[in-house]
Amino acid sequence: MDRFGHYGWPFFEERHGKLAREVEQWAGENLAHAHGEDADAICRRLVQDLGCAGYLRHCVADKPDVRSIALVREVLAYHAGLADFAFVMQGLGSGPIVLAGSEALKKQYLHKAATGDAIAAFALSEPEAGSDVQAMTTTARRQGESWLLNGTKTWISNGGIADFYVVFAKIEEGISAFVVDAKEVDASERIDIVAPHPMAVLRLENAKGQLLGEPGQGFKLAMRNLDIFRTTVAAAALGFARRALAEALERARSRKIFGQALSEFQMTQAKLADMATQIEAGALLTYRSAWARDVKAHRVTREAAMAKMFATEAAQLIIDAAVQICGGLGVMRGHPVERLYREVRALRIYEGATEVQKLIIARELLRK
Ligand SMILES: Cc1cc2nc3c(=O)[nH]c(=O)nc-3n(C[C@H](O)[C@H](O)[C@H](O)COP(=O)(O)OP(=O)(O)OC[C@H]3O[C@@H](n4cnc5c(N)ncnc54)[C@H](O)[C@@H]3O)c2cc1C
Repeated sequence: MDRFGHYGWPFFEERHGKLAREVEQWAGENLAHAHGEDADAICRRLVQDLGCAGYLRHCVADKPDVRSIALVREVLAYHAGLADFAFVMQGLGSGPIVLAGSEALKKQYLHKAATGDAIAAFALSEPEAGSDVQAMTTTARRQGESWLLNGTKTWISNGGIADFYVVFAKIEEGISAFVVDAKEVDASERIDIVAPHPMAVLRLENAKGQLLGEPGQGFKLAMRNLDIFRTTVAAAALGFARRALAEALERARSRKIFGQALSEFQMTQAKLADMATQIEAGALLTYRSAWARDVKAHRVTREAAMAKMFATEAAQLIIDAAVQICGGLGVMRGHPVERLYREVRALRIYEGATEVQKLIIARELLRK
């Protein structure tokens, strides 16, 4: 089955459709437990399940294939936001090790991350340094073979359940990346957000870390990592949006008001048409970006920014329209569109807010 109707697009090879169909079936059979109050326990289990099923190796891969990561995210997000979250955080948190780690670091962390035996996290943001990464104040100083890190990170996804963190800190040469084991950090202050997932403030007091890549190259490394994963945020937004459209279609067909189905009113049809068109446009941008990264093998700063901005903004509008079509049911706690309404919001903020994506696109346009 090609639920989303795009596996045959020229951006994909046969293996992509095969993977997406397989994940689709797996998700249908395995994600009943992926919703609920205890996000920590759910995510721990999801990481293990996704590792056992062999899917984590797509985002913890020597040569990441962005189309595969994006398709898996789209399918998982359609079924359960936490499954998408658990999947991608393994990639985001271990991506810098894949890109710049020594053989020893790779050996120490990557296999476990790919099998789901170790949970990864990516710690860049700080209380006073979110969009403005250069404002970071966390520092590292050398002590023998290792480094000691001091500072505070915040909004750290998987904070509190991660086994290791890739942490960015300043040294004389500039921002640098370090791998820090969970036992070195205080992640006891947890953050509760609108669609809860494991998240914490990270306090580092002489936390021992191993340098990752070249000194002073941490910012570039973070951006190279985001170059891979930013496109896939758009894919997650697509998964959410497609689910919202499916729920809206179902409700519009079955709900009778004023003597006819809600779907027979032209105002409803106009909403559905807009929703479907925005999804297709978002999918084209998303998979164009993924294909360019995989096949053309060049940086996709502009393409990824356009995909992320468009698909996440569109998903917000699409999900809002689905809530409207569902009426009271749409805001009832636990209804799929109510969940989507909460889950989609953060996507317009993290990995570069929409305003930051606009700056990136304009900078690329104005570049001589
Ligand atoms: C759910 C979630 C998960 C996250 N996970 C992680 C994680 O795992 N690791 C990590 O390091 N960080 C993570 N973050 C942090 C995230 O990357 C930051 O929230 C993001 O970079 C924005 O930073 P800020 O929250 O400090 O907002 P600020 O930098 O204070 O920006 C506030 C707002 O200002 C606007 N803005 C930004 N720049 C401009 C501009 N140039 N012109 C005009 N307006 C502008 C945007 O609308 C933005 O939302 C996560 C955040 C969320 C919400």
